Amino acid sequence: MARVVVVGGGLGGLAVAARLAKNGHQVTLVERATRLGGQITRRTGVGPAEGFQWDAGPAEMTLPTTIRDLFRKSGRPLERVLDLHLVTDPRRHVFSDGTVLDLPTQSRADQRRALSETLGAATADAWEATVDGLTATWELLRTRVLEVPFAGARRLGPRALRRLAFGTSLSTFAGRALPDPRARRVLEYTAVGVGSEPRLAPALTAVHAYVERTFGLWRCPGGFARLADALADRVRERGVDLRLGSAVVAIETNEAAVTGVRLSDGSRLAAEVVVCDIDVRDVVSRLSPSAPRALRRAARRLRPGRALRLVHLGLRGEAEDLPHETVVHGAEATVVVRAPRDPALAPPGHRAVTLVVPDGALAGEDVLRWLARYGVDLRDRVAVRLDDESRPWGPTWRGPWRGLGVARNATPVRGLFLVGDTAHPGPGVPAVLLGAAATVRMIDETFGRPPR
Ligand SMILES: Cc1cc2nc3c(=O)[nH]c(=O)nc-3n(C[C@H](O)[C@H](O)[C@H](O)COP(=O)(O)OP(=O)(O)OC[C@H]3O[C@@H](n4cnc5c(N)ncnc54)[C@H](O)[C@@H]3O)c2cc1C
Repeated sequence: MARVVVVGGGLGGLAVAARLAKNGHQVTLVERATRLGGQITRRTGVGPAEGFQWDAGPAEMTLPTTIRDLFRKSGRPLERVLDLHLVTDPRRHVFSDGTVLDLPTQSRADQRRALSETLGAATADAWEATVDGLTATWELLRTRVLEVPFAGARRLGPRALRRLAFGTSLSTFAGRALPDPRARRVLEYTAVGVGSEPRLAPALTAVHAYVERTFGLWRCPGGFARLADALADRVRERGVDLRLGSAVVAIETNEAAVTGVRLSDGSRLAAEVVVCDIDVRDVVSRLSPSAPRALRRAARRLRPGRALRLVHLGLRGEAEDLPHETVVHGAEATVVVRAPRDPALAPPGHRAVTLVVPDGALAGEDVLRWLARYGVDLRDRVAVRLDDESRPWGPTWRGPWRGLGVARNATPVRGLFLVGDTAHPGPGVPAVLLGAAATVRMIDETFGRPPR
C-alpha cells in the first residue's frame, strides 16, 4: 500500500483518488478551494435570478463509458448514484449565409437525411464518407494513445502517424474532404468549440465527429456539477482524507523520488506517490529542489487555448424554438448557445441558457446584438443576465506537427504523476478521465496493488 497525496480536487484528482482508495492505497487529497470539482462548477441565481442555475464549466460529454467505468471501479455503479441523459435534440448550425442546419448528433441515417435536405446529397455523401473514414483513426487513438500510458507520438511509428494524418491540419483535411464550406465549418467546430484554431489543430481532431455520432452526447439532469458532487461523495465513501481550503506550496523530492508535499499552513505530508491534478507549470514551480529538464520542457510547450466567456441568461418563456445547442458560425467568431431542456435549471415558464463566446472576438459588440444579426434574437426574452470571467477550455494545439504539448502522466521523478487537462491526453471530461485511469494503472503496477 502506498501513501498517496493527490494535489487538486478537479475531475482528474477526484477520479484518481477514488480509484486508488478503492484499490487499497492510503489517499489524502489536498484542494486549495473549499469545494471539490474544480472547473466543474455551477452558477446559482440569487435575488431576481432565484431559481435559475447554469453550468459554469462542462455541460455535456461524449464517451460516457469513461465515467461509468470510474464509478464501477470505485464502488457502486453510476446508475445507482446519478443519471446521464442522452441528448436527442439535433445540434443547430447557423451559417453566415442564413442557412440553418439541424444536425442530429448521434444517428448516421438521421445525419444523412438532415444534410441531404439542407446542404444537398453530395455534401451528405461526403460527410458520411469522412466520418465513416474516421473509424480506424478512433480505434488507433483508443488503443495506442488514450487507454494506455503514452510515451510520445514518435513511438507510434510511421504507419500509425500516417493513418492519423499527422502533419495535416484540420482545415486542410476538411478542405479536401468536404467541398461545401458550411460542412467544413461543422467539421472544424471539433476544434473551434474548444478554443483551438483549425489550421493549428491536426486532422485527427475530426475524430470527435465520429465519437459523438457513435457514442452520443450526454448531459447530467440538474446540471453537470452534480457529477462533481457525486464524485465528492464517492471519495468520502472511500475514506479519502480530504484537506479542503489548503494549498500545496511545495512538492518535495530527494535525488530521484518524490517524498511528500508541504501545505500552505506549513504542515508536511509524507508520501511515496504524489499525483498532481494542477497545471503542469504550477507543478514545475512547486517542485523542490527543482524540476527535471523534461518536465520544465513540457511546461514550456503548453499553450492555453483561447479564453471563453460564459454569459448566463434566464429567458422568459420555455423557448421551445431553441434546441439543446445552437452553434452560430459567424464571420467574426463562432458562438455557442447552450440551452439544456431541463426544468430543474429554471423556474416554471423560463429557460436557463448559457452563451459561450470567444473572448475579444466580437470587437466590442454585445453578444446578444451579434446573435440577433445572425437570426438568433433572444433580446426581448432576457429576464436575467450574468456575465462570467473568461477562461480557457484547456491547452490548445500548437500546429499539426507539434501536437497538444501536454505532459506525460508519468514523470522522470519516481512516484510523481500528472493528470488533468495539462497532462496526457488533454482537456475535456472523457480525456481527463482516461488519463486518470491510465495513471492509476501505472501506479498500481509500480507500487503494487495491495492484496485484497
Ligand atoms: C468554460 C468551460 C467549458 C467546458 N465545457 C466542457 C464540456 O462541455 N465538456 C467537456 O468534456 N469538457 C469541458 N470543459 C473542459 C473540462 O471542464 C476540463 O477539461 C476538466 O474539468 C479539467 O479537469 P482537471 O482534472 O484538469 O481539474 P481542474 O478542474 O483544473 O481542477 C484543478 C483543481 O486543483 C486545485 N488547485 C490548483 N492549485 C492547487 C494547489 N497548489 N494546491 C491544491 N489545490 C490546487 C484547483 O482549485 C482546482 O480545484 C470546459 C472547460 C471550461 C473552462
